[in-house]
Amino acid sequence: MIKDFEHFAPKTLKEALTLLNKYGDDAKVICGGQSLLILMRQGLVAPKYIIDIKGISELNYIKDEKDGLKIGATTTHRTIEKSPVINKKYPVLAEMETRLASIQTRNWGTIGGNLCHGDPAGDPAPVLIALNATLKVAGLKGTRSMPAEDFTLDYFEVALEPGELLTEIQLPPVPARTGTAYTKFNIIESDLATVSAAVSMTLGSSDGVCQNVRIALGAAAPAPMRAKKAEAVLKGKKITDVLLAQAGEVASTETEPISDIQASEEYRRELVKVLVKRMGKEALVRAKQT
Ligand SMILES: Cc1cc2nc3c(=O)[nH]c(=O)nc-3n(C[C@H](O)[C@H](O)[C@H](O)COP(=O)(O)OP(=O)(O)OC[C@H]3O[C@@H](n4cnc5c(N)ncnc54)[C@H](O)[C@@H]3O)c2cc1C
Repeated sequence: MIKDFEHFAPKTLKEALTLLNKYGDDAKVICGGQSLLILMRQGLVAPKYIIDIKGISELNYIKDEKDGLKIGATTTHRTIEKSPVINKKYPVLAEMETRLASIQTRNWGTIGGNLCHGDPAGDPAPVLIALNATLKVAGLKGTRSMPAEDFTLDYFEVALEPGELLTEIQLPPVPARTGTAYTKFNIIESDLATVSAAVSMTLGSSDGVCQNVRIALGAAAPAPMRAKKAEAVLKGKKITDVLLAQAGEVASTETEPISDIQASEEYRRELVKVLVKRMGKEALVRAKQT
């Protein structure tokens, strides 16, 4: 049963930060409530004060700017999925959203809430890491930014300081000849990933050599992670199936998966091998098409 709490609905970021600062550990931010309410119902968190940021319009936007795309933290999954600019310039992000939960959950759940929940199996983080995203956070003293790969620290623990809110997700423009692909293996359709993988690959203009590659994994470690040793296997080389299989093997040695009700540690490592190879191949195909 959910314990009684006082509910605040600030209309501006400043108001929300002031409330957060005032009530400190006794307060919890809520946005779509798709993750927080489950924890509250289970009695795992029992905040005295709820700061509801869903109505802060200055945090709800998708802006296509010269230096890249900016997504406000309270933007819903469904808005991202349906956004024409995202479908055109970052289609992998829209594709990922179509596989996140049900339409009902996507209609109300937000990208910011998803990232701040810190679930290593969440769908957006690996895609954002592969796309080299930056996250912007704000507190009463000012703002700071960090690479998406540094945001989740451990299981359900993120790099927000007390009194801070995640405000924006920033995506740099996608370089020419770049393809990005994402998939997750899950047992129940639209459920969280058993393991997920995103690969972004940039090819040389004429030689087809892999100039740059980013491999990101979900549910393979306590936090979404980059498989940097696997990236090194591919970087500077002409990509072949053999090389992609090798990258998958190396990626699996970089992970720290757990055994749980969905899969054993060994099974997750096997999934990493398969998904890295598959998404590497798909990213290559897409890079050649751009
Ligand atoms: C049935 C179901 C299926 C699901 N399936 C999937 C799935 O397949 N893939 C997947 O990735 N997720 C899945 N989820 C999780 C859920 O969709 C996301 O975690 C959701 O996006 C959370 O967003 P929210 O706005 O509802 O966050 P909330 O529940 O409101 O908040 C989540 C956490 O983030 C904090 N928070 C929220 N916004 C901010 C902010 N801007 N700054 C600082 N802290 C903040 C809150 O304090 C809380 O700790 C599923 C959820 C349900 C209920």
